Amino acid sequence: MEKQYTVTDFSLDEKTLMLHETLFHNANGYLGVRGCLEEGVPQSFNTMRGTYVNGFYDVIPMKQSESLCNLMEEKDTMLNVADMQSIRLRFEGEEFSFFSGTVLSVSRTLDMDTGTTERLVRWRSPVGREVTVRFTRMASFTCKNVFTITCEVCPENFSGTLEVISCHKGRVRNYANPKDPRLAASGGIHLQSAGEKRWEDATYLLSRTVKSGLTVCTGVRHDFPQGGRSTIDFDAESHSYTTRYETAVQEGKTLRFTKYTVTVDSLRSDDCLKTAEELMAANFGKLEKLYADQRHYLRDFWHSAEMEIDSGDDSSIAMAFNQYQLLQSCGSDGLCATASKGLSGEGYEGHYFWDTEIYVLPFLTYTAPQLARFLLRYRYVTLPLARENARLLGHQKGALYPWRTISGRECSGFFPAGSAQYHIDGDIACAVVRYYLATGDESYLAQEGAEILIETARLWMDVGNWNRDRFVINDVTGPDEYTCIVNNNYYTNACARYNLYWACRVAEILSREDWDDIVKRTDVTAEELKEFRTAAEGMYLPYDENLGINPQDDSFLQKSLWDFAGTPKENYPLLLHYHPLYLYRHQVCKQADTILAYILYDTRESRETMVRSFDYYEKITTHDSSLSHCVFSIVAARLGLYDKAWEHFGESIRSDLMNSHGNTGDGIHTANMGGSYMMIVNGFAGVNMGEDGLSMTPFLPRKWNGYRFRLRYRSSFLEVDVRKANCTLRLLEGSSATLRLYGQEICLSAEKPEYTVASRGEAE
Ligand code: BGC
Repeated sequence: MEKQYTVTDFSLDEKTLMLHETLFHNANGYLGVRGCLEEGVPQSFNTMRGTYVNGFYDVIPMKQSESLCNLMEEKDTMLNVADMQSIRLRFEGEEFSFFSGTVLSVSRTLDMDTGTTERLVRWRSPVGREVTVRFTRMASFTCKNVFTITCEVCPENFSGTLEVISCHKGRVRNYANPKDPRLAASGGIHLQSAGEKRWEDATYLLSRTVKSGLTVCTGVRHDFPQGGRSTIDFDAESHSYTTRYETAVQEGKTLRFTKYTVTVDSLRSDDCLKTAEELMAANFGKLEKLYADQRHYLRDFWHSAEMEIDSGDDSSIAMAFNQYQLLQSCGSDGLCATASKGLSGEGYEGHYFWDTEIYVLPFLTYTAPQLARFLLRYRYVTLPLARENARLLGHQKGALYPWRTISGRECSGFFPAGSAQYHIDGDIACAVVRYYLATGDESYLAQEGAEILIETARLWMDVGNWNRDRFVINDVTGPDEYTCIVNNNYYTNACARYNLYWACRVAEILSREDWDDIVKRTDVTAEELKEFRTAAEGMYLPYDENLGINPQDDSFLQKSLWDFAGTPKENYPLLLHYHPLYLYRHQVCKQADTILAYILYDTRESRETMVRSFDYYEKITTHDSSLSHCVFSIVAARLGLYDKAWEHFGESIRSDLMNSHGNTGDGIHTANMGGSYMMIVNGFAGVNMGEDGLSMTPFLPRKWNGYRFRLRYRSSFLEVDVRKANCTLRLLEGSSATLRLYGQEICLSAEKPEYTVASRGEAE
């Protein structure tokens, strides 16, 4: 299947431009460049012209109006590091621009097989010169510091001069919108010039952050194969180099040139300038090789990740788009994670949330476990900071991960819907366990995972307490951010229980030698493990006898119901229109909360309780968060509520392509993208990897003819192919695999690598 996503209708309103900047950004997990117009937009236009490095941040003030004890007064913010995407073109003195002359046609394409984006424009200048201009961009997956722009111009009805004005600018700003809490309120300049160098036709800029002490070096060099005259000027005030190039162009003849850029930062290099120069020397002029490496890298990726949806519509492309964005977003060096917007924009200031562990990691764990491992490593590397964070919040022991962060320090300014979300600890513990269950990698548990499980379990022992015979957890916030600081949030208690149980379970799984090492590193004692187990067994999970549901927390059902009928459409998302306290006093949910626990934490509620809870929360959930519909879809699928599973699926898979939350211009929603993958794998196909092994219960939605995906489980690589009549499992790699299909144990082996059974579930 060819994987291309193209748009051709192009309006010049700000909203569309910003949306396309996001949808056509190029990233590789390290570097992200927004898909801005090379030639720029008029000054009055809103644009987020950004280039970002995963994990690169500055620390900025976050003044609290009342300085209560240990509230965060500073936060990390992801920086726009430089502008290397500006290229202006002048034909016989007339400047190419969407805002003058006539755009005759335009298409923008993301090619997910070649790993490039393309903008192809046919333009007529004000005096009638016609040109075809094609920009092709790539953020290399195999040399992550490299980003290239190739420009091809073809004069269609004239010959003359072409002037190229290409900019490399260090003094850049971050974006801001004081009216939207999901963006930075003020967009200052966070980088100071720290030097520059020109060597022949290559230019390098060094910039240093004001507070965090980090340095970034960007390098630019142009390959103008046709020859011609070029000059380079430096402007100290804007800390920028401008390369001007002039050449002759001929009617009907295409001229091509390439702008090579490298970006290096001090988190990963001791001498950024030297590394940048070496990388430039190694890659300059090697465009074809970079393109070929990119194709190979993606061929391998899709070999594992490809999902085919036979639906007669564009579902396969929409899914591929989501998977590709996840690949573009995830850090792969253990020094960074996946920002909620990936590297596509400045929404949420580039912060990492639980989105990574609960929504993004399953996709990577099943298709590219080596990448999942890097994301988990980031949490291990930042464990010492999580310990410090726990102390700040008054806990004598254990580690509390920050609700939102880049460096590992807490960055949420509004603690009721931020730091109070202690479930982040359970989410991370859950991801550790799920990675282990999927890969069987005990060495991971021994090296990193067990320590995380123990330190987070300790935190639960400190935050919770025994109330008669029940272990309770008070004054925390669950995933639903419209209900804050509550006692016994069902989701939190369920994840804490799972976390405590698994902290004990690793002691049984690991070898004597490995466990002795863990004991040395953590000082964990047999007595402490016993306490963990007793707390897990005594963990209170709220249940309401009258309604037969799990209440979200102790006080949730006492609150007034939200007046949905009286809430006008334009008042959504509610967070932008109602005071938080007003929301907290009502039964209204921003996103899935209680029901998410059912699919993650082995809560063992009866089917009836889960169905009733599903119905209850479905009626009062606004899905103002993009993390919500996918969970409703998966839970519905697991409960056999196929229509509901389908309904919520439809809301989710094209969310960014349709800009359904209205803010994709600020960046993609990675959690929803991971969620859309999970809807098919964990929802429709019912894949579950538990202590008792791999199981699945696939059903086919009525409107589809089939779907097919691949999955890594332990040492095997499987294909699941669900059609109207049959469901087939294939063992593609590995000597054997045992799993349960519709409850029946089956064994695939090299001799018998395929198993087909009649499909069950929805399709007629
Ligand atoms: C959601 C959080 C999420 C964050 C970042 C918020 O709107 O409520 O659950 O982690 O966005 O995606």
